[in-house]
Amino acid sequence: MHVTDYELFEVPPRWQFLRLETDTGLVGWGEPIVEGRPGATREATAALVEDYVLGSDPTRIEDLWTTMYRRKFYRRGAVLYSAISGIDQALWDLTGKHRGLPVYDLLGGPVRDRIRIYQHVGGSSPEEAAASAEAAVDAGFTAVKTTPTGPVRRIASPETVHAAAAYVGAIREAVGPGVDIGLDLHGRVSKSMAKRLVAAIDPHEPMFYEEPVLPEQTDALPEVAAKTSTPIATGERLYTRWEFKPVFERGGIDLIQPDVSHAGGITELRKIAAMAEAYDVGVAPHSPLGPVNFAASLHVDAVVHNAVIQEQILARSGTPSYLTDESLIDHEDGYVELPTEPGLGVEIDEAALRAAAGETDWSPPDWRHDDGSLAEW
Ligand SMILES: [Mg+2]
Repeated sequence: MHVTDYELFEVPPRWQFLRLETDTGLVGWGEPIVEGRPGATREATAALVEDYVLGSDPTRIEDLWTTMYRRKFYRRGAVLYSAISGIDQALWDLTGKHRGLPVYDLLGGPVRDRIRIYQHVGGSSPEEAAASAEAAVDAGFTAVKTTPTGPVRRIASPETVHAAAAYVGAIREAVGPGVDIGLDLHGRVSKSMAKRLVAAIDPHEPMFYEEPVLPEQTDALPEVAAKTSTPIATGERLYTRWEFKPVFERGGIDLIQPDVSHAGGITELRKIAAMAEAYDVGVAPHSPLGPVNFAASLHVDAVVHNAVIQEQILARSGTPSYLTDESLIDHEDGYVELPTEPGLGVEIDEAALRAAAGETDWSPPDWRHDDGSLAEW
């Protein structure tokens, strides 16, 4: 079997799908995208496919991964890693379909029967956030996640800290102690404010603080972790074993959130997760993307003992699935079942994908502080 053709589809809301075709008629899917940089990711993906994947045996995943990563001497960066990630997913999809097995069976078989997922909740006031969380619990979720602050000055007033604590407190009051509440600080606050915020919010017993500092500042994680008993999470903007290595070594981390479309695909996520296990760190893959990314994440969650919970946005009303069969995202009691079909187990609705394909326009908001300086989103 060898790869004979490829196509890329840029689609709303901010996704890109890769379709690999083989001489045997099998089709494999991946999601190579850096959200907000579709053009750069498209160019990088097309170049890697044309240079190394076309004409190759797609079951030689390790060699293709290594070649895409090492062959051109210069490496690293979100765009290249995300291109490799999406191609890697499509190679696993093809290999699974060729062997007639779900990807997790090629990775050693599942260690769990179902995978816990969480739902994003929020609102512009504590009351709205509480109602949103209650709706998620009514829909069966046992874990939710929210971002408790807007833009935050480098050193903000107590009012900002109190408001964030009140926001989380309203959610806790609404859902009770049996529901987990993840908090994403989104790299939005300085190290100074992270320390104050965790101390103020801790009484509401969140599940974790995500990106309490920017990925460029992970050396500050032990300092933040020293101020809280709540688990610290990071990693959606870190890539490969080599970027996670110093984070594990320095400590102050309980949960990593690599993205299977950014960190290096299924091949690399599995290896990062194994490193995490050696440091007693859990894994909760980042996934604000489409069904291929979500399915690829589930196959890793299935085989990784230290997987904790899976992000998703597909169960949110209004998110397109581009699937002909949406059972992938059926959830009960806050869990999804493992996909059972060979490969990734996603049945892409090509007609819907082709109809939606075109230039997308997504960017984080241009938030400014009161003095006009740029604020982190
Ligand atoms: Mg996040």
